[in-house]
Amino acid sequence: KKEQLQLLAEVDAVTRDGEHLTLAANISSLRELETSLKHGAQGVGLFRTEFLYMDRSEFPSEDEQFDVYRRIAQRASGQPVVIRTLDIGGDKQLDYFALPEEDNPFLGYRAIRISLDRPDLFLTQLRAILRASAFGDVRVLYPMISSVDEVLQAKELLKRAMGQLGDRGEAYNADIPVGIMIEVPAAAAIADLLAEEVDFFSIGTNDLVQYVLAVDRMNEQIAHMYHPYHPAVLRMLRMTVNAARDRGIEVSVCGELAGDERAIPIWLELGVSKLSMSPQSLLRVKHRVLNTSAAEARDTGRQCFRLGRSGEIERLLSAYVTPVR
Ligand code: PEP
Ligand code: MG
Repeated sequence: KKEQLQLLAEVDAVTRDGEHLTLAANISSLRELETSLKHGAQGVGLFRTEFLYMDRSEFPSEDEQFDVYRRIAQRASGQPVVIRTLDIGGDKQLDYFALPEEDNPFLGYRAIRISLDRPDLFLTQLRAILRASAFGDVRVLYPMISSVDEVLQAKELLKRAMGQLGDRGEAYNADIPVGIMIEVPAAAAIADLLAEEVDFFSIGTNDLVQYVLAVDRMNEQIAHMYHPYHPAVLRMLRMTVNAARDRGIEVSVCGELAGDERAIPIWLELGVSKLSMSPQSLLRVKHRVLNTSAAEARDTGRQCFRLGRSGEIERLLSAYVTPVR
């Protein structure tokens, strides 16, 4: 079975009735990029850079970061590489960077909030990403965005980083695409406003589900309430995708839900054609896409949006996946 799946690495992800999906990889290292490419990834939809900052005693320098980003950009051979800026806080800590004790770390000092509070760290990372953009199709992605102001501030700092590189005579792509994670309900609710300011959205369902449902994604006791197929989540997805479509910007999904085969009818119904997932999910999801009729799946997806209970939606999607014809 594994060998049979491996044969699909070189095959396009296209439904039985001819609809193409783009399947990209979520990675945290060059090693994971190698695995992804072996599994036929069409680029990197999410590079989680925090792992570059972990297991060490100080912040990585601009050159150290540049070296990794450049190698990833080159290895991706012209396919898109989406580099997400530092996303620490919440569950992720750095030994050498004391974060404040917080009652609610997931609602606290996290991700873009830290970057905007510490322009020294942020500019270092932005310069490294920009320098790598001279070596491939590199795009920058900001995590945990919850307002237009944050986007404007981040864009301002990106401009400043470009100025600094210009002064040094370093090469970079001045038109580097800028995107944001949609993973906070506020961002989904103002997706139309945010779409005016950025080139693409990447929906982070892991956090979006946690925040929409007020269910801590790390808390075992309420894990049964962590329901990606909750109608409220589906509505947030729809709101986000519609805003992106109206504004003509690209939208993809990079949370765990992207690697769940049962969600394919939802993506087809919404019109999402790019999914980024863990390297281990790529071939399994592609196999499912190849065995899917987009027209039938869309029918199922449409029904899901009419149902009021997570369990009903999940059952419908599971039933759709089970019979392998
Ligand atoms: C997400 O929140 O869905 C996501 C992709 O980011 P992370 O899992 O790294 O928080
Ligand atoms: Mg997240």
